[in-house]
Amino acid sequence: MIGYIYKLVCKKTGLCYYGSTLDIDNRQSKGWYRTSCQDFINPTLYLMETLEIDDLKELKLKENDYILNNICVNVNLAIQTEEQTKNNLEIWKNNNRDSINGHKKKYINKVLETKKFYCDRCDYISTSNYKLNRHYNTKKHLTKVFL
Ligand SMILES: [Zn+2]
Repeated sequence: MIGYIYKLVCKKTGLCYYGSTLDIDNRQSKGWYRTSCQDFINPTLYLMETLEIDDLKELKLKENDYILNNICVNVNLAIQTEEQTKNNLEIWKNNNRDSINGHKKKYINKVLETKKFYCDRCDYISTSNYKLNRHYNTKKHLTKVFL
């Protein structure tokens, strides 16, 4: 099948958003209110690449490339690969090991006491586990995981 990678550019700010679709004509008319480019004003759509793909995953991985290698407003990656998920788990384990001693433990205890959720890779504190889980899929977090 054929997949498309596109870029949206806000007419007012020049900010970019990357996305992928199997139906570029439909995507153009659908509106963007549920994506991180929801504030874009009269966005212009640029077709970046037309790909012959075997499955949707292939397209999403290509979209990831664009999100990670370009300055854009995308908050989430298109897809997490198994490798990335495994990687996240390893890092989580390592972080926990580190936190057994010293200041870190004190800090984490303090966070736990106040019932906040903490990603010590990014120094991100959230008020709910749900938000923390969402954080794990953000570009900010994943970029740190890959470093
Ligand atoms: Zn993080």
